[in-house]
Amino acid sequence: MHPIRDGEVAGSNNQEKHFMMQVSGDVQIIKEDNVTHSFCGLACVGWMYQKIKDSFFLILGTHTCAHFLQNALGMMIFAKPRFGIALMEEGDLSKNEPTLEEIIREIKADHNPSVIFLLSSCTPEVMKVDFKGLAHHLSTADVPVLFVPASGLVYNFTQAEDSVLHALVPFCPVAPAGQKSVVFLGSVNDATADDLRAEAEELGIHVAGFLPESRFDKMPAIGPDTVLAPIQPYLSRVAVKLERERGARVLHSLFPFGPDGSRVFWEDLAREFGITIDLRDREKASWEKIRSQTELLKGKKVFLTADTMMELPLARFLKSAGADVVECSSAYINKKFHARELEALAGVRVVEQPNFHRQLEDVKVIQPDLIVTSLMTANPFAGHGFVVKWSMEFMLMPIHSWSGVIPLANLFVSPLLRRSKLPAFDKEVWLEGVMPSAE
Ligand code: SF4
Repeated sequence: MHPIRDGEVAGSNNQEKHFMMQVSGDVQIIKEDNVTHSFCGLACVGWMYQKIKDSFFLILGTHTCAHFLQNALGMMIFAKPRFGIALMEEGDLSKNEPTLEEIIREIKADHNPSVIFLLSSCTPEVMKVDFKGLAHHLSTADVPVLFVPASGLVYNFTQAEDSVLHALVPFCPVAPAGQKSVVFLGSVNDATADDLRAEAEELGIHVAGFLPESRFDKMPAIGPDTVLAPIQPYLSRVAVKLERERGARVLHSLFPFGPDGSRVFWEDLAREFGITIDLRDREKASWEKIRSQTELLKGKKVFLTADTMMELPLARFLKSAGADVVECSSAYINKKFHARELEALAGVRVVEQPNFHRQLEDVKVIQPDLIVTSLMTANPFAGHGFVVKWSMEFMLMPIHSWSGVIPLANLFVSPLLRRSKLPAFDKEVWLEGVMPSAE
């Protein structure tokens, strides 16, 4: 029995206890009121520029943004990265609009991109720079400049991918009515994309492509006979846009993570095409492949703090694997887009926009065996003797569908195994002092 009940907020003295319960199916979502400790939207550049290989990402930002990107993505700097920052200096604050023509000329000469994404950041947004007008002014017929709102003021960092895909929608041709086909929604590396495509084709499903594709001029055609299959859980806004503007049908299923998610995803997708398949044997065989990992996860108390918005499907996989998910929190939960994951999480404490101070108090009481958390909060937890996993790693590893099952399970068990190999230690020593207080 967990010491914290649904709807109860531990801790005694913070003023941020306001929360409300929302019911989605059988699951009560506890809505709190805190900011999440996570990256800002600019971080999306790290994976989006690698995915769209003929693109350039230009950020209009300050030294703070440059410092953040250099630290977060610095390891790629020697690869002549196709992203850069137009730095705003103090003198720019008094100007009406920034001038970027010279920078755009340089980018075109050095990188020859097919598309340039212009990303906003906090300072110019506060200054009310007209980014849409600016992007329009800088666009040419051969190289469009597309505005992407991605500052730390508004978005959870993974949702910035949603903003990039929004900007790409006008460049997806309209698919003529006729042949029903699937478009996978979400950025994955090319090997994973090939794998998903092959799997779909083997089931007899016609694949129109991926949004995004790896080249700007290859974006998929989308129309009323398109089934959109979201493969990342943070793209609800672009899914709704395509549903509304193109009449596409959005697949509402589990996300294809883990043996359970993969089976339900492929069975549901096939059903959309009038194909009935039963993948229970395949799911069983897939669980068998990760038996040693699930043995280790069984009964382990796992706490997920909000970071990547992948928390719901990850928690669902953990629950299916026999772990005891003591809390699954996420920055935003869309009751329709995440409906199936929420259903599968019945009985789990699900929190939206969690209060991190409350979470610290609860972690002290619950003493989880594993905490899945952001890069910012991982070290303090580790410093207090907890076993932690960086949630960011789940974004960077190929964990989709059947071929991703083993890497997914390994991500969860690797910190547990590492800790078990350390010489026995007295947790009291690690816990000396107190956890960061909620005050
Ligand atoms: S956009 Fe805002 S939150 Fe992001 S690095 Fe720049 S100043 Fe920081």
